[in-house]
Amino acid sequence: MHPLKSKIALITGASSGIGRSTAHQLAMRGCELILIARRKDKLQEVRLEILKEYPLAVIHLLPFDVNDPTLYVVLKRNWTRVDILINNAGLALGRDKFQDTNFDDQIQVLNTNMTATFKMVHTLLPGMLERESGDIINLCSVAGHLTYQGGAIYCASKHAVSAFTKTVREETAGRNVRVMQISPGMVETEFSKVRFNGDQKAADAVYANMNPLTPDDIARMMVFMLEQPRHVTIDEIITMATDQGTPTYVVRRNS
Ligand code: NAP
Repeated sequence: MHPLKSKIALITGASSGIGRSTAHQLAMRGCELILIARRKDKLQEVRLEILKEYPLAVIHLLPFDVNDPTLYVVLKRNWTRVDILINNAGLALGRDKFQDTNFDDQIQVLNTNMTATFKMVHTLLPGMLERESGDIINLCSVAGHLTYQGGAIYCASKHAVSAFTKTVREETAGRNVRVMQISPGMVETEFSKVRFNGDQKAADAVYANMNPLTPDDIARMMVFMLEQPRHVTIDEIITMATDQGTPTYVVRRNS
């Protein structure tokens, strides 16, 4: 039997990009899915797409903001067993220097990327430890290891995710709970459109004349982490497009 068959997988940020691809990849391997994001219509679309391919898939939708405390009440009440947690919901807002940013926007980035990731682990890890079984993958970023101008709070949030992942990984050693992270460079998703406040032209320019990573690339890497035998933990995958030399150096074909 496939090692992920019948596992219950919770994915935050499943309405788009990496989370959406991960939902497909895990459904393909027989996981029961709990999908979280704010846009209910998009979550319903994902469910329909998956059911078209895998009619027997079991998919629960939780259309919540990960910053909404009610979400965690619902999870504690109804979802005491989650085998796989993919902590993926996240965003950046703007590329301005910190002093020129809207502070409320930056707090939203920090709360979503960092505090909600912590809260989700705080909610679901006790059950995993009790059952002595579970896997957590936190979406970090190359911005969790390096910094760049115009990304102060995004970088700070991902540095925090990285420090958090490593600490909890150490705290849970020997308990058959694997706490891991993946740190991508540029992946073509809605990320840049959100960052540039819906400006599609600005978003397209980010990926112009180079081959970025795709959400499927990242989803397949996470499946690889999850499919390892239980005694193997891949602490982290750091991955960038071949055209991206560093977080800030990208080779464009005709530049
Ligand atoms: P995306 O296509 O914009 O997807 C982001 C997902 O997060 C969406 O499903 C969005 O759903 C959800 N989300 C955002 N705020 C939320 C909130 N408050 N509550 C619930 N869900 C929320 O971007 P992506 O590239 O797939 O990003 C996924 C993760 O990868 C993020 O953590 C990001 O930082 C990380 N990452 C991305 C890249 C990249 O280049 N794309 C690189 C490194 C790391 P709703 O809008 O429906 O709520």
